[in-house]
Amino acid sequence: MQNNAMRELLKLSCNAKTRSGHPCKSATVKGKKRCRMHGGTNNGAPKGNMNSFKHGYYTKENIVKRSEVHKLIKEWKKLSQELEGDY
Ligand SMILES: [Zn+2]
Repeated sequence: MQNNAMRELLKLSCNAKTRSGHPCKSATVKGKKRCRMHGGTNNGAPKGNMNSFKHGYYTKENIVKRSEVHKLIKEWKKLSQELEGDY
């Protein structure tokens, strides 16, 4: 019983890296992954914020495009292996 309670506590702890290098043990803000001191109450940047935009490599569209290309490459490799197996 006590072990389960400890596990629940660990699951709900912030675990952000503190200045001493240890994980933060404070409870998380409800519905968030971090405690109030480590950004749990911060909503993040507003939608459309371009403050950290450099080259667009990590934009949603580019991430989707890359994953589609990777899928195509995977399919092509599978097909080429199947064709080679025929001979
Ligand atoms: Zn914390």
